[in-house]
Amino acid sequence: MRILITGGAGFLGSHLCYRFINQGHEVVCLDNYFTGRKRNIAHLLGHPHFELMRHDVIDPFKLEVDQIYNLACPASPVHYQHNPIKTIKTSVMGAINCLGLAKRTGARVFQASTSEVYGDPDPEVHPQPESYWGNVNPIGIRSCYDEGKRCAETLFMDYHRQNNVDIRIVRIFNTYGPRMCPDDGRVVSNFIVQALRGEDITVYGEGQQTRSFCYYSDLIDGFDRLMNQDELTGPVNIGNPGEFTILELAEKVIAQTGSNSKIVHQELPSDDPQQRQPDITIAQQKLGWEPTITLEEGLKPTIEYFDQLLSDDAAVEG
Ligand code: NAD
Ligand code: UDP
Repeated sequence: MRILITGGAGFLGSHLCYRFINQGHEVVCLDNYFTGRKRNIAHLLGHPHFELMRHDVIDPFKLEVDQIYNLACPASPVHYQHNPIKTIKTSVMGAINCLGLAKRTGARVFQASTSEVYGDPDPEVHPQPESYWGNVNPIGIRSCYDEGKRCAETLFMDYHRQNNVDIRIVRIFNTYGPRMCPDDGRVVSNFIVQALRGEDITVYGEGQQTRSFCYYSDLIDGFDRLMNQDELTGPVNIGNPGEFTILELAEKVIAQTGSNSKIVHQELPSDDPQQRQPDITIAQQKLGWEPTITLEEGLKPTIEYFDQLLSDDAAVEG
């Protein structure tokens, strides 16, 4: 197959690029490098089945493809709040452009949605099933991302109902691993980089808010299963139900890096969800999918990756 991956130079997109090249497919990676980096796909440059397109997903693109994975969108709050209007355009226009391409070519199209469509969930709906409609602030600082992703889901469902476009939607819960951007502000990369540098670990608020952390390879396996089976169109949660407070994560990172860093508390950003845990019943029953890697197991290679990255960067600077 020829597979288009928008956001293919980012953390998750680059892992998809390698997976599909290794499976013998042709990959077209489309990215504007806002948060993605060429080094993420450096080993693929020059591969006869790999093509890199510097392009913005908000502008239409024309090519012939069999499958489309739409991942283009900054995922970290720091980056998606940097230019919120651009963020919402990326989600909405990007979805329209991918869906239009899918409609013309007949390609199956995949949307990287997010647990953020649940907003700050009612504690009574915990863990969150796909049937929960969410509790999202439409006018807050996270809305450009949350509402953009919600609108993209609506567009996917309407293109399916109105034009019979073959769609798949994944709601991704916090995922981490090698090739995350070291300065993108997400909690796992922040804590590891701070610990490796011996800097203070910045816990926002009391650190009692929870997240459920999925290792990237489990997630990518879930993507592949969903995309390559014929039944499901509605959204599917893919995430690891192992739930941790942010303070627990900080303590694990300190222990696993052997760092002397101290935990400091900083102001909690507004609309920061208090609890987050996926209900993965649909993924288990319909895809036979379950995560296999615990947080402790996944942190190890992630720490090794950042350790190597920081010494490579130091060597360049030095
Ligand atoms: P990332 O920031 O590493 O990757 C996003 C990629 O999209 C980058 O390469 C970036 O340059 C590119 N991009 C951004 N705006 C673009 C535009 N207008 N045109 C073209 N390319 C553009 O983030 P990630 O963690 O790899 O996330 C990938 C997708 O998964 C995103 O859509 C994100 O919303 C979704 N997601 C990720 C997580 C997670 O925990 N990693 C959770 C929920 C949803
Ligand atoms: N967080 C933190 N310190 C940091 C970065 C993030 O305490 O240096 C917290 C943040 O307030 C949130 C959680 O960690 O409660 C996850 O943040 P992230 O930006 O990774 O993703 P989110 O799930 O909020 O989109």
